[in-house]
Amino acid sequence: MGRCVICNFEVESFEGLDSCPNCGTTYAPVFFVDDINIAINWQELRGLVMWAEFWANAHKESEDMLRFVYNQAERLEKQFPDRQRLTLYSEIEELRKVYDVEMHNIPEPPPKRLTLNDVLDEVQGIIK
Ligand SMILES: [Zn+2]
Repeated sequence: MGRCVICNFEVESFEGLDSCPNCGTTYAPVFFVDDINIAINWQELRGLVMWAEFWANAHKESEDMLRFVYNQAERLEKQFPDRQRLTLYSEIEELRKVYDVEMHNIPEPPPKRLTLNDVLDEVQGIIK
């Protein structure tokens, strides 16, 4: 069992799959058996995430690279909701709630991939 690194879709088996059945990414999924707990300083983690965000933003030809970074950052932030946000984009998003700031060349998440679950939700909404 494992999950997609882009949309967190969970699958029983990856056998025979060449892409995520939910979002279609060809990024390799992760196995739950490889989930681990580690000790790290939050500021060090922020540094790692922001460098990854910076790198992925410099390679926009692969939108899934940025989706990967933002998805992993969001999964980590949910585990520690009282902590500072992990990405530069989210930090600036927080500043914008308080200040009228205009910034340029800041990384931002690409549009979300349309997933199978999104389509199913839409269809169920129409049927009701
Ligand atoms: Zn997916």
